[in-house]
Amino acid sequence: MLDLHTHSSASDGADAPRELVRQAKERGLKGIALTDHDTCAGLEEAFAAGLELGLWVLPGVELSAEWGDEDVHILGYWISASHRELSDLMLKLRADRASRMARIVGRLRELGLTISLSEVSAQSDGDGYSLGRPHIARALVARGYVRSMSEAFDLYLERGRPAYVPRYKLSPQEAIGAIVRSGGVAVWAHPGHLASQLLLPMVQAGLAGMEVYHPQHDTRQEQALLRLAKYYELVVTAGSDAHSAAALGAKRASLDTWYQLWSCR
Ligand SMILES: [Zn+2]
Ligand SMILES: [Zn+2]
Repeated sequence: MLDLHTHSSASDGADAPRELVRQAKERGLKGIALTDHDTCAGLEEAFAAGLELGLWVLPGVELSAEWGDEDVHILGYWISASHRELSDLMLKLRADRASRMARIVGRLRELGLTISLSEVSAQSDGDGYSLGRPHIARALVARGYVRSMSEAFDLYLERGRPAYVPRYKLSPQEAIGAIVRSGGVAVWAHPGHLASQLLLPMVQAGLAGMEVYHPQHDTRQEQALLRLAKYYELVVTAGSDAHSAAALGAKRASLDTWYQLWSCR
């Protein structure tokens, strides 16, 4: 009945927070956590819509950390957006993301693929801070330089490809620490195959839960993650990672999960 992982146009989602809440209600969900990338800018609108339409909205964020060459995303629930350390960190991550976009566009230009930053922005409804590589990929498709987004990533944008630009490195432990110190509860989003190596230091840093159920996990992975979650006494969560209202509720968590997370505060 709850979707604990959703994105709005405040980061890289397609729908405004209000529309996301409206459609969650329409789909019979009882509540959602809005977990935009590195920003809490959509929360106020989502709260207002939730009050008006009768849907629980849980304040959240998804911080982008890195471990070696791997992306590690940490969900923070009940975080305080005005907490100094967390808001500074989100600002830094977003500023880095913005300058990184300009550098990627520069690299592409050197490769003869001329797109402008405004063409990239045109692929997003967000505020510009929320631009990511998917928007660049869409701009490349729109220009006809590649046939699909996956081709854009495979040829140019993926790590190891010519237009890849690394970003500001935040460790998973730092992300967890900032969430916990702001009064929030930290959950590892879509751990995939990384869990067994990384879990212990993350638990030591204050990790409270693990998103076992995610559209990218297959049954085998879910079972492996369930065992690890049990071993480390982590709350098992579920989320659709919806980047548009159409994907809402693909994975659902129970009310009990919500209470378990709440009791970790
Ligand atoms: Zn993620
Ligand atoms: Zn996400």
